[in-house]
Amino acid sequence: PLVLGIETSCDETGVGIVRGTTLLANTIASSMEEHARYGGVVPEVAARAHLEALGPAIGTALGEAGVTLGEIDAIAVTNGPGLAGALMVGVGAAKALALSLEVPIYAVNHLVGHVGADLLDDEAPLETPTVALLVSGGHTSLLLVRDLVSDVELLGETIDDAAGEAFDKVARVLGLPYPGGPEIDRAAIGGDPAAIRFPRGLTHPKDLAAHRYDFSFSGLKTAVARWVEQREAAGEPVPLADVAASFREAVVDVLVGKAVAACADLGVPRLLLGGGVVANSRLREVARSRADAAGIALRVPPLSLCTDNGAMIAALGAQLVMAGHAPSELGFGADSTLPVTEIQA
Ligand code: ATP
Ligand code: MG
Ligand code: FE
Repeated sequence: PLVLGIETSCDETGVGIVRGTTLLANTIASSMEEHARYGGVVPEVAARAHLEALGPAIGTALGEAGVTLGEIDAIAVTNGPGLAGALMVGVGAAKALALSLEVPIYAVNHLVGHVGADLLDDEAPLETPTVALLVSGGHTSLLLVRDLVSDVELLGETIDDAAGEAFDKVARVLGLPYPGGPEIDRAAIGGDPAAIRFPRGLTHPKDLAAHRYDFSFSGLKTAVARWVEQREAAGEPVPLADVAASFREAVVDVLVGKAVAACADLGVPRLLLGGGVVANSRLREVARSRADAAGIALRVPPLSLCTDNGAMIAALGAQLVMAGHAPSELGFGADSTLPVTEIQA
């Protein structure tokens, strides 16, 4: 089926078009620059930006795919989780499109969409069951995907800051601009990842009982801030590359460590990465080497499919169509806290 997907859960306005698992278009407009001066995504600014960007993005995607609106078989849209006002813009537009085109609509879960992105990577088909690690500015979740359209389980998630958020906050501590992820990646070049032993959240044996697959990054952020403050108070220079590399190592160590442990515990030799933090060079390296060592097949979709996009939503919608699922009833709304088990509304 030819499916048009709309994604507006955060700061990316994404419109994607797929035919089955074939990617035809993936148009993304980001309001990231507008949020930069606030040091994080401002919900009202994001919602307004979606309103302005969505119409043109639909036109661009149709042009890129070389199809007309009349040929679209179904609409897919993210209805949660995410920023409520931002989600509502996409949901409203998607309903209007589906009604006017008289095609079915599939309201889908953003996080499951991130897993669906892997379908569009032509290297090899998505195999299940798989463990999925989703890391972005808003999410840090470890999932067990037994079946993409019917059986997704949340193994664990962050109990405070998301991994991307930790990069953004630590960048601020270090005087680097937003978004912090790429800045810290760059600042870490030439740094020693073992220079400072920053804390690995929720890895202590006493924490593992209740939080085996959960994450915590706010203590790490505080530890970096305190370390830097003490240096400055002592009138000593702050070794930026070492601090950045050591902080990054602490984040990556926990993310990969818990994901690989989940694969081993559950006997699932497959790990899929998704989300904007996958852009992190060290995360890719460490995931690759530890997955290889543990005999785990690692899947990392291209970055344009890892960050928020409409193509992954279209891909998940197409899977629902092909699996024979009924479309969503038009009464569905945006749900900012939609649980990952609710794959479709
Ligand atoms: P959502 O959480 O809904 O997926 P988001 O907009 O917060 O949306 P993304 O756009 O997927 O998330 O990713 C942005 C986040 O990724 C930011 O927090 C940014 O700092 C982080 N990031 C980007 N590049 C890197 C990098 N090289 N290293 C670490 N973090 C990175
Ligand atoms: Mg974003
Ligand atoms: Fe996302």
